[in-house]
Amino acid sequence: MAMQGLIGAVEAGGTKFVLALATPDGEILERTRLPTNTPVETWPAMAAFFTQASQRHGPIAAFGVASFGPIDIDPASPAYGTFTTTPKPGWSGARFHDALAQFNAPINVDTDVNGAAIGEWQAGAGRGCRTVAYTTIGTGVGTGIIRDGRSLMGISHFESGHILPPHNHNTDPFPGICPYHSDCIEGLASGPAIEQRWGRSLDQLADDPQAIQLIAGYIAHLASTLVLLHMPDRLIFGGGVMKAPGLIEAVRSATLRKLNHYVQHPRVDDGLVSYVVTPGLGDDAGITGAIALGCQAIASP
Ligand code: ZN
Repeated sequence: MAMQGLIGAVEAGGTKFVLALATPDGEILERTRLPTNTPVETWPAMAAFFTQASQRHGPIAAFGVASFGPIDIDPASPAYGTFTTTPKPGWSGARFHDALAQFNAPINVDTDVNGAAIGEWQAGAGRGCRTVAYTTIGTGVGTGIIRDGRSLMGISHFESGHILPPHNHNTDPFPGICPYHSDCIEGLASGPAIEQRWGRSLDQLADDPQAIQLIAGYIAHLASTLVLLHMPDRLIFGGGVMKAPGLIEAVRSATLRKLNHYVQHPRVDDGLVSYVVTPGLGDDAGITGAIALGCQAIASP
């Protein structure tokens, strides 16, 4: 079935919205960014961009949205596309379907992590894979599992950042910062946790190999858990923390030790150099994924 019409793509982040009008092939015809203020300001500005871009380039056949959360991403839910309990003022209860109703087009809403994961699967480090685990280690920690280009979910999106890793309080007395669990992976290894622990970001701790080893150990607990649960073709680790020099190498070594040769497969190379990787798209993963989400809305509205 030939796809007709254009894709409205939305990458909704906590500080900015990236908007694009694109062809179903992924060619971006027009793009802009807006600050994430309150819906009262951001919704009309978003609709105005799509109205004007559509007048220039043609009708919009579907929208793909990759958004910060928490947000309802279950297409069967009456609240699909609605922000739930976000602490961001004004956003709880705001719904993408209301903001984009005037276009009368199907809307596919997923999380920002799942959107970036789909982008990496389609055009980045996950190309050629059937199952990809994309994890961001940044302000928060989260994982999107992509199977044949579609994100997996259960009753809600996955919450890998809140898995509790082994935590030796003698060698690592830092209590963790998660308000729910203290020392879950997000509580120990997210950007804010690292700042609170050492007063610096991890890339400023290059003179401290023990810091890299410690954080790598927690991330490797997540990596080995993802391998055992999902058996991905590849694991991608992105986000601000992963930019620290030496971290991806340390994560590979620690993951190897945890798996201890248990998983044997051609995909799982000796040093995990092609199995545990950093992203291929950088900042474009989110909007690339949002366009792909829009294409999926046409394929199965
Ligand atoms: Zn937690």
